[in-house]
Amino acid sequence: MRTPRLAARVTGLKPSATVEMTERVRAARAAGRRIIGLSSGDPGLDTDPRIIEAATRALHDGDTHYGPAPGSAPLREAVAERERLRTGAAYSPADILITPGGKFALLTALMGVVEAGDEVLVPEPGWVSYGPCVRLCGGVPVALPMLDRVDLDRLAAAVTPRTVAIILNSPVNPTARVLPAAELHAVLDLAERHDLWIVFDQVYSDLLHAGAFAAPQASAAGQARTLVVDSMSKTFGMTGWRLGSLAMPSGTARSFQRFMQHSVYCVPGFVQQAGVQALALFDDLVPGYRALFRARQTYAAARLAAMPGIACPLPDAGFYLFPSVPGDDAAVAARWLDQLGVATLPGVAFGAAGAGHIRFSLTTSQPDLVEAMDHLAHWAEQELVSA
Ligand code: PMP
Repeated sequence: MRTPRLAARVTGLKPSATVEMTERVRAARAAGRRIIGLSSGDPGLDTDPRIIEAATRALHDGDTHYGPAPGSAPLREAVAERERLRTGAAYSPADILITPGGKFALLTALMGVVEAGDEVLVPEPGWVSYGPCVRLCGGVPVALPMLDRVDLDRLAAAVTPRTVAIILNSPVNPTARVLPAAELHAVLDLAERHDLWIVFDQVYSDLLHAGAFAAPQASAAGQARTLVVDSMSKTFGMTGWRLGSLAMPSGTARSFQRFMQHSVYCVPGFVQQAGVQALALFDDLVPGYRALFRARQTYAAARLAAMPGIACPLPDAGFYLFPSVPGDDAAVAARWLDQLGVATLPGVAFGAAGAGHIRFSLTTSQPDLVEAMDHLAHWAEQELVSA
């Protein structure tokens, strides 16, 4: 028996390091090992029962058919309103597409702007799916190191006649850094000079703990060249619902929508009704989630920073920490998993510029977090002091 050839489009894609680690943790647990999971990008929140109720009500009411490809009117309105409150940007609901998760919003954005061979600047360290999504569109991802700042000289040098877009992410996965307004303005200037799109991924923006959130779409000129990727996953603990959105310049949604029409068609109506309910509960729910993540972040950052050889700044958002560790981060993360039963991700999984760091995702219970930090402190005393 012979199986026909697979397309390089999929065989050539790098597997997602985060998904692979999740699978390793699942397998280790299935084999009976106790693993404290600090590697997943899932915030680990249970979806609020009122959101679940909205979906089940919708199902019983018969919202089980194809719906409008760009999304339901009430959800597009609610997303536009949330965006107005978040960044001040005014979007008509007609400029919002509802997508199955932020990941598909990103793919939809890139599908709409990348031609074969086009280059897209991709932040490093950065979320693992940016490069593969660019490749799926036939484009070429060009890594742009921005561990603790956007280096404008490097950015300018990376732009070529084939560059069509820059992907920016704030707050950043994996560092949880919030991009300051000045950096965004400088990137926007450059994007204007070279007539580039900005694909702006703000899926963690509702989990801001300190400072202000700056976004390129906040100015009219920025809005005209920015595609805003957003999601309910992190804000409301709704990763499995697959619910996100893409906001775009006025008049362009019809074109992007064609990709939706010919692929997933639409997000299930009952999932969108859950989304409307989630956004209505924003003020009720989100401050509590923020407080939970901030408490864990402050605790874990202080514990890590006290360990010899480890430097751990406290970022302004989200539920990640990205401390530096001595030596090879991939080897360190592998040893923590194998010897201590603590699952994290090596910084290098987020691109070469992440090397020498470990990403902690603070999505476990406080007792598990304390236990993990105790194991790591003991390890650091043994390995790093005596070394
Ligand atoms: N962007 C970033 C930076 C992310 O970390 C994630 C999830 N890990 C996403 C987008 C997509 O999330 P979702 O598809 O669940 O909305």
